[in-house]
Amino acid sequence: MPTCKICLKPFKTLRFQSPRVCVCGRCTNALNEYKQVAEISYQEVRELLLVGMLRRATIDISSPTVPIWKQQSAERILGNLESEVDKAFSKWVNKLVADKSNTTKNFKIIRAHRRGLLHLDRPHRWGYPNNWKEVAHKIRQLDNFACVSCSTNDEALHVHHIVYASNFGTHQNTNLITLCRKCHEKEHKRVLDFGENMSEPDELPIN
Ligand SMILES: [Zn+2]
Ligand SMILES: [Zn+2]
Repeated sequence: MPTCKICLKPFKTLRFQSPRVCVCGRCTNALNEYKQVAEISYQEVRELLLVGMLRRATIDISSPTVPIWKQQSAERILGNLESEVDKAFSKWVNKLVADKSNTTKNFKIIRAHRRGLLHLDRPHRWGYPNNWKEVAHKIRQLDNFACVSCSTNDEALHVHHIVYASNFGTHQNTNLITLCRKCHEKEHKRVLDFGENMSEPDELPIN
């Protein structure tokens, strides 16, 4: 069974599945509702570690039954709390992110960022890159010029952001997917009007 790379749960079918992308419907919807950059989630998770380390060290330093080395370590932590938290953070967060029982919003956001779907902080400018046409062409090529959702190859193929660009989704390969017009419209739950002649099939809805 395929596994969603964001919640780490197995599903019979995923909303988006290709060699580059494995994301379930719930995570797709959730990431598009949060409207948050990854940096905020990293900070919130770091805050948990800080509170935990502070509490632990406060107990250890005043307890006569803990060994000396532990009291010394508690002293060091209390003396340089921020930098001790920074030192411990990456190992700690890696362990949490690898654990599939961690399914809260912050973990989904951190995983989405690590897989290249979501920006770490707010991009300087919002919008499509100058080479968007080339980027979109490369995505269609990677998806063998077929809709990843229904496999059709006989319709105008759009390139869709799994996490919307307006929700701080990136223009990286792991966040872009080829969809036919029908599947794309289903994704945005509305008719996409690109004009009669579809001269700009790469143009994406602002959503
Ligand atoms: Zn998922
Ligand atoms: Zn389709």
